[in-house]
Amino acid sequence: MAAKPFNPFEMAQRQFDAVADKLGLDQATRDLLRHPLREYHFGIPVRMDDGAHKVFRGFRVQHNDARGPCKGGIRFHPQETVDTVRALATWMTWKCAVVDIPLGGGKGGVICDPHNLSEREQEAICRGWVRQVAHNVGPIQDVPAPDVMTHGQHMLWMLDELEVLRGGKLPGFITGKPVGMGGSLGRTEATGYGVVYTIREAMKDLGLDFKQATASVQGAGNVAQYAIDLFTQLGGKVIAVACWDQADQRAYTYRCEAGIGFGQLMAAIDKFGTIRADRAREHGWERLDADAWIAQPATVLIPAALDNSVNADNAHKIKPTVKILAEGANGPTTPEADKILEGKGIFVIPDFLCNAGGVTCSYFEQVQCNMNYYWERDEVLQKLDTKMTNAFRAVSELGRKRKVYTRDAAYMIAVARVAEACHLRGWV
Ligand code: GLU
Repeated sequence: MAAKPFNPFEMAQRQFDAVADKLGLDQATRDLLRHPLREYHFGIPVRMDDGAHKVFRGFRVQHNDARGPCKGGIRFHPQETVDTVRALATWMTWKCAVVDIPLGGGKGGVICDPHNLSEREQEAICRGWVRQVAHNVGPIQDVPAPDVMTHGQHMLWMLDELEVLRGGKLPGFITGKPVGMGGSLGRTEATGYGVVYTIREAMKDLGLDFKQATASVQGAGNVAQYAIDLFTQLGGKVIAVACWDQADQRAYTYRCEAGIGFGQLMAAIDKFGTIRADRAREHGWERLDADAWIAQPATVLIPAALDNSVNADNAHKIKPTVKILAEGANGPTTPEADKILEGKGIFVIPDFLCNAGGVTCSYFEQVQCNMNYYWERDEVLQKLDTKMTNAFRAVSELGRKRKVYTRDAAYMIAVARVAEACHLRGWV
């Protein structure tokens, strides 16, 4: 019998169910939080550059808004599914709650591959996406942001479309906008830097020295890039980076014992965050199998690509040198792999805590938009560090006190906060 395909939403629900038991949640609260509150599925008709018409499938899922407007990115991905978007929207609810920002959880997506789309076609998809949900999103309802294969330019096209439809300026509608156009300094670095702030704190707890630390990273997109930047700035060394190869339609791991620096990485990637094989060769990086990143003798593993990348098939390859697994991606580790990691005594920094720097800075962006007063980069990053450090401390203390796995500790804090908001509003 063929193995059942991986379903991230089932995984998100399994994780939730386990925590609901631990927290002793009542049935109505479980029923509310196991599923999204609302979701929109729609077609986006686009006239392509060759004159043909094509319809792209788009989604927006609003998981929960008890603590504030829904918040979460929009992904452009050829393999997008509504269950992936549901899972990601659910994780956004927990993410905003664990860092204690007044926002709920949402996520959006379009089934498309921007590699094969012109700028004009991408703009048409962005504007078409907004037209389909214009009445259901906005600064006080649901605030999108960049995610896999979307960036500031996409956000600006979306903002422009909503402002045209509604009339007036609504910079708080969307975050991750370009700096100078309502964006926040530090937003580009925020997710990757946030990952490293949590690694720094975990290292303190484990008595590890950053200057002796090495990392192996899966992914070369925005999160991976800035995680590598700060990891090396703090004195660590990145010995491997795994990445999708657009030409070969498969992934490879690139390894360099001397270390892969931020500048080198940026010179090796295309605009979608995929490493070009010719540039990697010029840097003298050794090219290995896709999964080799997980089997590196590093101190820290940073899965910062897509979901289901640390699973029952590869978790046993993790070397005993690995002390920390920092989840830059959303949903990289399956519950089966969690058991293996727990057995190996690896300190896991769970995704919705580890990569919460992006949405935390998005929140700062909204605050700045509302005030129409923009902070300096250092001020943004200082506030980000404080939020991430406080959230990490609360999770690690609860984990120690209750002797629970860090993912469970993070879930317990986040779910309890959201459940309380639902109770206080009288929903359940
Ligand atoms: N897409 C990012 C995430 O998954 C950021 C979301 C946001 O800034 O709203 O956390």
